[in-house]
Amino acid sequence: MLSFNFDNALIRDLPGDPQQGPQVRQVEGALYSRVDPTPVPVPRLLAHSAEMAAVLDIDEADVATPAFAQVFGGNALLDGMQPFAGNYGGHQFGNWAGQLGDGRAISLGEAINAAGQRWELQLKGAGRTPYSRGADGRAVLRSSLREFLCSEAMHHLGVPTTRALSLVDTGAAVVRDMFYDGHAAPEPGAIVCRVAPSFLRFGHFELPASRGDTGLLRQLVDFTIRRDFPELEGAGESLYAAWFSQVCERTAVMIAHWMRVGFVHGVMNTDNMSILGLTIDYGPYGWVDNYDPDWTPNTTDAQRRRYRFGQQPDVAWWNLSRLVGALAPLFSSVEPLQAGLDHYAAVYAAADRATIAAKLGLAACREEDVALMQSLQSLMQQAEIDMTLWFRALAHVDAAAPSLEPMREAFYDTAKQAAVEPALRDWLARYAARLRDDPLSVSQWREKMRLANPRYVLRNYLAQQAIDRATQGDTTGIHELLEVMRHPYDDQPGREAFAQRRPDWARHKPGCSMLSCSS
Ligand code: AMP
Ligand code: MG
Repeated sequence: MLSFNFDNALIRDLPGDPQQGPQVRQVEGALYSRVDPTPVPVPRLLAHSAEMAAVLDIDEADVATPAFAQVFGGNALLDGMQPFAGNYGGHQFGNWAGQLGDGRAISLGEAINAAGQRWELQLKGAGRTPYSRGADGRAVLRSSLREFLCSEAMHHLGVPTTRALSLVDTGAAVVRDMFYDGHAAPEPGAIVCRVAPSFLRFGHFELPASRGDTGLLRQLVDFTIRRDFPELEGAGESLYAAWFSQVCERTAVMIAHWMRVGFVHGVMNTDNMSILGLTIDYGPYGWVDNYDPDWTPNTTDAQRRRYRFGQQPDVAWWNLSRLVGALAPLFSSVEPLQAGLDHYAAVYAAADRATIAAKLGLAACREEDVALMQSLQSLMQQAEIDMTLWFRALAHVDAAAPSLEPMREAFYDTAKQAAVEPALRDWLARYAARLRDDPLSVSQWREKMRLANPRYVLRNYLAQQAIDRATQGDTTGIHELLEVMRHPYDDQPGREAFAQRRPDWARHKPGCSMLSCSS
């Protein structure tokens, strides 16, 4: 029997909207609104994460029951579920956007598992809430499938992230104008059940602050520290400072992982920044194929490229600065907040150096290794070299007789390759010399590189192929990808097809290299 032990701390301990139901409104003095999911015609389970089910103590037999699809399609509530939508604001593309809130996400409750961990269950696409602002509260299959797969892929890559339990087809079409060009069309609708210790965002803190509601802000901060950061010590302002520093640290660690694996979030608005430093809100995200710090998958941001790959560390800092602005009323001086931002910069710099060492297979990053990595990145960009393939293959270089041979599959453009090859050979000679001068043995540096450089990432075109098949009713592509992405650092014999560079046909195909926010 499907059941959970719920401890719904957020709605128990924090003030909520006195009004119930989905009517759109400005909600002041409250951090959430109680609202139930809107039932769907025919909920059908398309996929689930076995690891997440196990964490939640759900029996595999229960996953297969109709009840599971009913609950995670939003048609039935289990004992103890108290659905609500969160109330938050945010800075979108650099501008304060006011109240946003969960317009289509509905949290069902905070489940405590047998191990004593807290896991909030949240349906995305479960219908209208007070925060839907004229939109339908639903989500399409393509974006839901992308969120489901990427959450789990990121987890297995070791990147802090919200998780996904299930992907349910609703049996109802959702109308979307995918390219915002006046061609709206019906698409299959779906619901993801995502899971995290908390879905609180920077924007949760910004909204009460923007309204001058310091009392509510303080209540939320006290609650967050108590529930989500119980390890922190101290009281009053020093506790707040320790907490903010921790938020900065976790954010830095998360971003460093993104840069290591080639992940581009695409919409780093402050409403999409988790206070736990988890990757959250998978929308028009993308994976770097050919190394390009200027690349963004998000067509909505194609002009300014605010959220491009190479900009992410700076954007996170900017977002933390907005959080500083929100938290300032709780501090008698800005110094502790400034110290938190400095901590972000220091933790990121250290993590970046650790990444350089790991990706290059060095015991530690020396001063000159930063320049070594930078010159490689510049050559990779000029020559259009696949980031994932290059670093994975680099471990096979013979430091005594270096050659580009192991990396031959990583090039996208033969003319550019030819132009840059001499410089790449020089670089390789420098690198080989550096390896010979490093204390790590050959097997040690190769293993270090294997664990930092994934063989399999959720390339945009792979997800799109699974979407195309699922839209035709064939879900095997989802299951295959989910399986491959469970072990991204292992060579998986027979699965070479998932570790190829992006095929030419996918270079400019919608969904494969560019995505709109429509979801
Ligand atoms: P996102 O870009 O997905 O992070 O969403 C930004 C804001 O728009 C959030 O407040 C979402 O809840 C809201 N939103 C996005 N899509 C929908 C939708 N289909 N229905 C209602 N609200 C939505
Ligand atoms: Mg969002």
